Amino acid sequence: MYVKPKKKLGQHFLTSEKIAQQIAESIDFPVEEGKKAGCIEIGPGTGILTKFLMQDSRLDLSVIEIDNESVEFLVATYPSLMIEKRIVEGDFLRLDLRKQFPGGFPIVCGNFPYNISSQIFFRILEYKDEVRQVVCMIQREVAQRITNHEGTKEYGILSVFLQAYYDIEYLFGVDETVFNPPPKVKSAVIRLKRNNVKQLDCDEKLFRTIVKMSFNQRRKMLRNSLSQYLTGSADEERFLTMRPEQLSVADFVALTKSISANSNAATSA
Ligand code: SAH
Repeated sequence: MYVKPKKKLGQHFLTSEKIAQQIAESIDFPVEEGKKAGCIEIGPGTGILTKFLMQDSRLDLSVIEIDNESVEFLVATYPSLMIEKRIVEGDFLRLDLRKQFPGGFPIVCGNFPYNISSQIFFRILEYKDEVRQVVCMIQREVAQRITNHEGTKEYGILSVFLQAYYDIEYLFGVDETVFNPPPKVKSAVIRLKRNNVKQLDCDEKLFRTIVKMSFNQRRKMLRNSLSQYLTGSADEERFLTMRPEQLSVADFVALTKSISANSNAATSA
């Protein structure tokens, strides 16, 4: 049985068992003796990574795969996963994960479909109260964008959102030669560990709006891109001539706080 890689599903199958093993071994999650932690693998394909995740006795593994042909391959190759109903055929971006995995899913792992990796991260953010750790392979530029901090040109919306709730490490780079077919881009493996921020110390909805608006015009100073929100208060002054890539997560929180405090003051006056 052979699964022909489909471009529209972002299928680039890893051919190196060694790298698959390295990815699986990068999960660094405390599990009590005798217990198991729920782990979802996104996009198992033909299961090269699945094999090593299944061998890890700390993990209660389930996989989500959108491609029917890959699912058939997995069912034939890993009957034990199938019998326990742990092979879910579906779209990670649409499934109701809480309903699907009532036992929890603190760990998310995978060699992600690169064409939708940003959407996968936005989805993970929706489940940030459940997902404690992510170990994944993605396009190298996206990995850099997500891991980089303020002051770098790769820093962007996803960096701010993810870094607000996760501590992120760039683990290692992977060349295109170990995939079938080789992707046009280089790859990298990163690990995200949930930090202890339950909620940001500001209006989170406004925070998201402010971050998005700032980066949508990333070359402009904030006094221009955020003009409709700024209140003219003294707390905002130090940000006015800055560009979004210069603000840390804490700066965006401070700016959001100041905007909501002062606009509330203005409405109630
Ligand atoms: N883990 C495998 C395959 C990686 S390629 C390996 O390393 O070889 C990415 C995989 O994600 C493909 O199998 C593709 O079918 C699957 N995929 C693409 N979009 C998906 C989605 N929305 N939900 C779940 N799986 C998806």
